[in-house]
Amino acid sequence: MKPGDLIEVETKDKQLKGVFMPNSSEKKLVIKLTSGYNVGILKKNIKKSKVLKEYEEKKVKKGEHKHQKGKKTITILHTGGTVASKVDYETGGVVAKFTPEELIEMFPEIEKVANIKSRLIGNFMSENLRFEDYNKIAKVIKEELEEVDGVIVTHGTDTLHYTSAALSFILQGLSKPVLLVGAQRSSDRGSSDAAMNLICAVEFMVNSKFNEVGVCMHRAMDDDFCVILPGLKCRKLHSSRRDAFKVINEDIVGEVDYRTKKVHIFRGFENKSNDIVLREFNPDVKVGILKVRPNIFAEELEIYDKFDGLVIEGTGLGHISILTHKENEKIYSKLKKLCKKMPVVMSTQCIFGRVNMNVYNVGRELMDIGVLGNYSDMHPELTYIKLAWLLSNFDDKEVKELLHEDLRGEFNKRLSTSHLD
Ligand code: ASP
Repeated sequence: MKPGDLIEVETKDKQLKGVFMPNSSEKKLVIKLTSGYNVGILKKNIKKSKVLKEYEEKKVKKGEHKHQKGKKTITILHTGGTVASKVDYETGGVVAKFTPEELIEMFPEIEKVANIKSRLIGNFMSENLRFEDYNKIAKVIKEELEEVDGVIVTHGTDTLHYTSAALSFILQGLSKPVLLVGAQRSSDRGSSDAAMNLICAVEFMVNSKFNEVGVCMHRAMDDDFCVILPGLKCRKLHSSRRDAFKVINEDIVGEVDYRTKKVHIFRGFENKSNDIVLREFNPDVKVGILKVRPNIFAEELEIYDKFDGLVIEGTGLGHISILTHKENEKIYSKLKKLCKKMPVVMSTQCIFGRVNMNVYNVGRELMDIGVLGNYSDMHPELTYIKLAWLLSNFDDKEVKELLHEDLRGEFNKRLSTSHLD
């Protein structure tokens, strides 16, 4: 048998059916079950095995997909992650599938809705992305949008919300839809969310006037709906569930009913000019995030001396320990010095809700020494991206002002200011 073959294996107490997966152990045989899970079986325990169907790599004919008049054209840009990938049975690795023919072969329904173009940017695990990658993705989006009606960016889920925030800032004047789509399970697993997320993204683009950066993922654990989240106000909140992404301090943009393909839109979209101006990140800008927790030490703040900015992931309404203990007093003086050198911005590790440094003494002390971010409802990762982008494009005075302004929908002024209102 060879990798990719559908096989049946019998041991003393069970019979298993699945795809034979490559693996490095001499002693074990690995099978991918239809549930998507892999099981390893010790070869010595196998009583019988047989090949039910040999693996055949389908050859896709190029140029088979003609332009369909009257249908919108969408470019799928692949940057990596699980979503437009499948296991390569030759190597056992997950590989990107990115030509239009291969994408259509994997997800045939998308072609019924739109003309599909595709472009490969890379095959990154999203934790490896850097600011220069955001610039590159944005540049390709701009180029594509000169010709097509919308762009879908297939992306690893781990840092997808950082990228959606970054693109929202870079793509100034965006007047067409950009949707980031990820998947928690790869497309060759029975429980994969890749096809549904992608199909819903195409449906939403074709059937709405959405003209911003958004994210399209499962709405709940079942396969009924996808949700369209604002790219700036969402976050991955679960490590494995397919509905891992949730809206933060905002309303969702819309939903797509996967069964009927009906699109629900919950708000209007501003008319914008057609000229995208790229306002890129400076790849060398250094911003840190400091997570506040009990028993924090002042020396941790020292490494930020050479940074350009710092986000504090404060507790509650936006606090860090600066009072009542010698160590905390040291933190206070280090923080005071940092605030003189660079923007230090408070956010809340609660994720939901707003910073309000007016409520407790500590907050007022922090504002006195120059900690910024009061009333911000931007979650820590969004604050991080916004600060780095501001530092890349504006001078010190402007950075401090613009942090508290709503530039692209990142700062929700409608959200109530605190539990005390
Ligand atoms: N680690 C992967 C990534 O973010 C997970 C995924 O593809 O969703 O790229």
